[in-house]
Amino acid sequence: MAVLMFVLGSIMGSFFYCLGTRLPKNENILTSRSHCDYCKHELKWYNLIPLFSFIFQKGKCSYCHKKIASGHFWCELSTALLFILTSFYFPIGYDFFVGLIISSLLIIIFVSDFKYMIILDSPMVISAILIIILKFIYYDSIDVLISLISGLCLFLVMILIYKLGNFAFKKESLGGGDIKFSFLMGLILDFKIGLVALVLSVFLALPYAVASLELKKNSEFPYGPFLAGALFIVFFHYDKFVLLVEFLFNF
Ligand SMILES: [Zn+2]
Repeated sequence: MAVLMFVLGSIMGSFFYCLGTRLPKNENILTSRSHCDYCKHELKWYNLIPLFSFIFQKGKCSYCHKKIASGHFWCELSTALLFILTSFYFPIGYDFFVGLIISSLLIIIFVSDFKYMIILDSPMVISAILIIILKFIYYDSIDVLISLISGLCLFLVMILIYKLGNFAFKKESLGGGDIKFSFLMGLILDFKIGLVALVLSVFLALPYAVASLELKKNSEFPYGPFLAGALFIVFFHYDKFVLLVEFLFNF
């Protein structure tokens, strides 16, 4: 299982890196063939083996010998590791598939948001559709309805935070992608636990926000990776967070 997840994860990671770096530039990832970013040489199948091509080519294009972005390699490796982790955490079933979807989103958002400050719509839409289908398969239509309402409520909470933030800071406080992503968080985690994940994301982002303000004097930073990170952490420890919420609400 671990070997299967490693192979699948590294292949998907390679695809996610292309997605995260090419879609924001409006390149069509389905029709345009893989090519070197420098010499535009079309890549052969043996240049496209995830992880191994990068290692054997020593991180260089085999045609023009320019350095290939190491993001390729790290993206493939981390997706492979997250997929293996998911298979260790969950037996095959609803949680397992949703775990793979969240891992994928985390990687894509990491790439596109840190590189271009963008959270792409298409991976979020596809994830939402897949999750609703999985809910229909493993649960029933009432659960789907509750999840959709949860997603909508968390989305509205995020819009409220956005409006308050704009008022307080007199500028755009959140990106559109961050607000849309909160719908997915509610859809997956349900409303109460979704709120906990939102709070967690603030704590995860805080050190980075402070550092980028202090070091780069830049008050804008990508928030998506921290939202996705919080979703990942909370989903993988869902039971513990349910206990935490019960404990807090009993006070
Ligand atoms: Zn090249």
